[in-house]
Amino acid sequence: STVDEMVHLQKIIQPTLGILTNIGSAHDEGFQSAGEKIKEKLKLFSAVELLILNKNRTIEAFLPSTIRTFTWSSDDKKADVFVMADEHPDYTELRITYQKQCFKVVIPFSDFASIENAMHCLMVLLYLRYDEAVIQERMAQLYPVEMRLKVKNGQHQTRLIDDSYSSDFQSLKIALDFLESQQQFKKKTLILSDIFQSGLDNDALYAQVSLLVVSNHINRVIAIGPTISAYKRKFPNCLAFPSTQAFLDVIDTLVFEQETILIKGARHFHFEDIVTVLEEKTHETVLEINLNAISHNLNFYKAKLHSPTKLMVMVKAFSYGNGGYEIAKLLAHHKVDYLGVAFADEGVALKQAGIQLPIMVLNPESTSYPSLIQHGLEPEIYSLKGLHAFVKLAEQKKLKRFPIHIKLDTGMHRLGFMEQDIPALIARLQQTQAVEVKSILSHLAASDDMTFVDFTLAQLSLFEDLSTQLMEALNIQPIRHILNTSGISNFGQAQYDMVRLGIGLYGISNDEDEQKLLEQVATLKSVISQIRVVEPGESVGYSRRFMAERLTRVATVPIGYADGISRHWGNGKGYVVINGKRATILGSICMDMLMVDVTDIDCKEGHEVIVFGKDPSVIHMAQVLETIPYEIMTSISQRVKRIFYRE
Ligand SMILES: *Cc1c(COP(=O)(O)O)cnc(C)c1O
Repeated sequence: STVDEMVHLQKIIQPTLGILTNIGSAHDEGFQSAGEKIKEKLKLFSAVELLILNKNRTIEAFLPSTIRTFTWSSDDKKADVFVMADEHPDYTELRITYQKQCFKVVIPFSDFASIENAMHCLMVLLYLRYDEAVIQERMAQLYPVEMRLKVKNGQHQTRLIDDSYSSDFQSLKIALDFLESQQQFKKKTLILSDIFQSGLDNDALYAQVSLLVVSNHINRVIAIGPTISAYKRKFPNCLAFPSTQAFLDVIDTLVFEQETILIKGARHFHFEDIVTVLEEKTHETVLEINLNAISHNLNFYKAKLHSPTKLMVMVKAFSYGNGGYEIAKLLAHHKVDYLGVAFADEGVALKQAGIQLPIMVLNPESTSYPSLIQHGLEPEIYSLKGLHAFVKLAEQKKLKRFPIHIKLDTGMHRLGFMEQDIPALIARLQQTQAVEVKSILSHLAASDDMTFVDFTLAQLSLFEDLSTQLMEALNIQPIRHILNTSGISNFGQAQYDMVRLGIGLYGISNDEDEQKLLEQVATLKSVISQIRVVEPGESVGYSRRFMAERLTRVATVPIGYADGISRHWGNGKGYVVINGKRATILGSICMDMLMVDVTDIDCKEGHEVIVFGKDPSVIHMAQVLETIPYEIMTSISQRVKRIFYRE
């Protein structure tokens, strides 16, 4: 952010390969001139073997001749790599020329910032001598970050650029660039909240924002928030509102027509409510996943572990319904030690999405063994039959020390070797080099229920016994693990070498006090499709299960039992929350819809509906439905779109 910082960073990081992504206007305030800033940035690369950058004369003028460069460009043929980009609505074809060779790479983006980022990735791959085919395959797998810059159709022939989950100066620039690139309409409106994380004082910050807005030819600005409102005069055609609600109150009186609208706000301004109103109604139901809450919960349980204890996180059943590779990626970022899935295909999907963490498969069927081996997934072996089959295959394939996990049945009576199987297990393992016992595990049947504490202690003691027998006979030191989430909470003394965290990561504990310390991860949202009024004596829904006793305003919500909302939650038992108020579910829940009572709730068609989240919580629903939160969470159908966000 200012002069003389990079020298220190250079010493800490000592980078050997550098990528200079770009020099924008961020941090200009810390420097006398652009040149001074460029020189400062380049100090980070003073000792690199190679610097990758977009060829740029200004930067080159400052580059010491000692730094070897590898450049790309789309207009300067002198660059090492020349690229021509054919942009399509949702993908871009890059035509690459490098060392007189030409090849094509398709990436699933079409905005400038993503193309630039992708080019830098491609440059690294070229430098590391990956061949064309691999580059093409890998680049095609890049995926857009959800909830950033989503383009949607709005009402009255408008296009919405939905960036309703973040607001900082840098991302505003990217979003405005993107807005500029949208050629469909001449007219452009920006809806913008107070901006955080700029590091500037407000006067300087909003002066810069104003410059950006003017230079990007924005016709109208709607400023929302107490701070930005004070700078209203700096923006063209500006309407200012103290809060999102104040704007929503008058939104019907404003005209939005034949224009592109960029909606950009910090998370707590809840600009998704604005998007909901302006959007062409598609009746979308989404499950929103708060990645920060997941990180919080992960750290909560990590803090309970002794420092050498490793952590396996269970991501079976699509991470308990929350999401697949997105959550695995976050866990990889947090450097957990292992992931656990139920079936081989779940593990294959994660590996194919680029997850490199070791993955244990709880219940591998013998037909999936070849695929396990091919993808480097590690099976849990729970029977002699399974062991014989796996070892046979491993030997045929001439594998050496392929990692397997031995499951012991200590009382759950689900899967695992029983005490009497141990001699045969030892004998078979002694005869082969093809597999290696990476870990020994068992599973507690009642770690959540202290009325069964004696039973659990007996399980723990049998685990100690049997695992010790194995380790002594085979002379091995595998990872031992037995605790699930409630085991971590209630039997911390039995952490052994690793624990297996599941439900707690997703914000659910079976302990009331612990529950208060976890953060809620998932919110299931829908919208009101239609509202009608029914007379007393009329009925609502199939089999006329609800009979109106008064004049009743009925809202229909496009989510039903096919989306995973149990029919038992209908007929007056369950509710949704609309505009902060509880709306009772009327009659039977249909396959794709349900109807709720909004007689006393101020709401309109298109308004947001909370199906579960803070209220009703999944825990409350589970109590009413006489089940457990696990079942409700894993029941949410895959047709419900998942949206991941950070605060
Ligand atoms: C699902 C599972 C876990 C995690 O259980 P939670 O109660 O969700 O923490 C741990 N170990 C095994 C073998 C499992 O099947």
